[in-house]
Amino acid sequence: MQYFSTNKQSSSATLEEAVVRGLAPDKGLYMPERIKKLPPAFYHNMGEMSFQEISFIVAEAFFGEDIDADVLKNIVYDTLSFDTPIVQVHDSIYSLELFHGPTAAFKDVGARFMARLLGHFIRKEGSKEVNVLVATSGDTGSAVANGFLDVPGIQVYVLYPKGKVSEIQEKQFTTLGRNITALEIDGTFDDCQALVKNAFIDADLNKAMKLTSANSINVARFLPQAFYYFYAYAQLLRRGISENVVMCVPSGNFGNITAGLFGRYMGLPVKRFIAANNRNDIFLQYLHTGVYEPKPSVQTIANAMDVGAPSNFARILDLYNHSHEMICEDISGAAYTDEQIRETLAEVYRKHHYLLDPHGTCGYRALAENLQPGETGVFLETAHPAKFLDTVEPIIGEKVEIPATLQRFMQGEKKTVELPSDFTHFKRYLLQR
Ligand SMILES: *Cc1c(COP(=O)(O)O)cnc(C)c1O
Repeated sequence: MQYFSTNKQSSSATLEEAVVRGLAPDKGLYMPERIKKLPPAFYHNMGEMSFQEISFIVAEAFFGEDIDADVLKNIVYDTLSFDTPIVQVHDSIYSLELFHGPTAAFKDVGARFMARLLGHFIRKEGSKEVNVLVATSGDTGSAVANGFLDVPGIQVYVLYPKGKVSEIQEKQFTTLGRNITALEIDGTFDDCQALVKNAFIDADLNKAMKLTSANSINVARFLPQAFYYFYAYAQLLRRGISENVVMCVPSGNFGNITAGLFGRYMGLPVKRFIAANNRNDIFLQYLHTGVYEPKPSVQTIANAMDVGAPSNFARILDLYNHSHEMICEDISGAAYTDEQIRETLAEVYRKHHYLLDPHGTCGYRALAENLQPGETGVFLETAHPAKFLDTVEPIIGEKVEIPATLQRFMQGEKKTVELPSDFTHFKRYLLQR
C-alpha cells in the first residue's frame, strides 16, 4: 500500500518510509491510498470475537499488503495485552475505558503498536539504530517511553519542561532507564517542541544519526487507534444495543477521532460522532463557520487537549474531500470551560458513582447534552483520573485510588539529563551519544 501526503506535493511513500519519516517532506500528513471496507459478515459476527481477533482483522486491512500475517498478528496481540471495556455510566451513556494499559491512557495502544512495527522494520533491514525524539507536556512522553522500552535498535529521547509536569507523569518516563533517556529542559513545552523540530531539519544531525518522531501524525501510531472503536461496537452488539450508536471523543490533535472516522469509512456502523473540546475550540468554530482558524492554545484542566492547531485536521479534510457540509453531517462538536468540567466531574461522581478524568468529562457532557432518544452513546474515557490527582481530588473532595500500574512507577528512581533550552547544546549532546 502506498501512502500519499495530504499536501500532495511529495511523492507517495511505502508504509516503512511513512513510518520512519513521520511527516511527509512537504509537511503534509500521510494517508493510505485506499481504505478497505470490511465484509458485512465481520460486522455480524464481531460480538463473538476477542479484542485481539477483531483488531487483527482491522490491522490486516491497513497493513496486510506490507507485513506478513504472522508478524502482524504478533504485533497486534503483543500490543493489546490489556482490555478496553465499555462500562455503563447511566441510562444510554457508556464509557469506553481506554486506561487499562501500562500508562493508563489511550495513547498506550498507538505507542505500543508503533514501537513493535518500527522494531520489525529495523530487524528486517538490519539497519542502523533509530532515534525517536519526543517532546511532551506529560502524557505522550509516558506512553511513548513505555511503548518503546527494550525494543532493540531504538533509542528514545523524551524532552520535557523542567518543573512543569506532574510528579506522577514525570515518574513514568524518568524511571525506566535502558533505551529511554529523559531530557529535562530548562524551558517550556514549546521550547521542547522547537528543539525536536529543529533536530529533524538539521543537516549534521541527520547525517550522523537516523531520527524519527512518535506523535500522532505517524501512521503507525494513528491507525491502530481504530481497533478499540471496532471492539466497542462488538461489546454493544453483544449487549444487544448496537443500533444508532453515537461515539463521542475528547479531542486535542484529533488523531483519536480521525481513527474512528476511518473505522466508519470501513463500514463500522456508527451513526455519528461528536468531537468534545475544552476551551480550545478551533474545530467547533470550524463546524459553525466553515473556516479553519488555528489559534495559540490556552491552558485548561484537560491539558492533553490544549491544542490550538489540531494536526490531524488535515486528515479529516482529506477523508471528506474538503466538504464542510459532509463533515457537519457526520460530526458535531462541543466545548467546555474548566468551570463546566469541574461541575460535571463532581456531579457524575456524586449521582452516578463514576469517577471521570477531566478529558473524559468533556466527552461525557457532550453526550449527556446531545444524545437523542433511541441512540446509544459511547464516550472515550481517554485516561485514568489518577493521572490528574491535583485536579480531580479537590473537585470531589476525596482521595483517588492510584491503580497498581501507576503506583509501580512512583517507586522508581528519577534519572534525567538536564539541558538548557538552546539548540546548540541539544545538538552537541545528541552528536556525542
Ligand atoms: C492525547 C489526549 C487526548 C487528545 O487526543 P487527540 O488524539 O490528540 O485528539 C485526550 N485525552 C487524553 C487523556 C490525552 O492524553
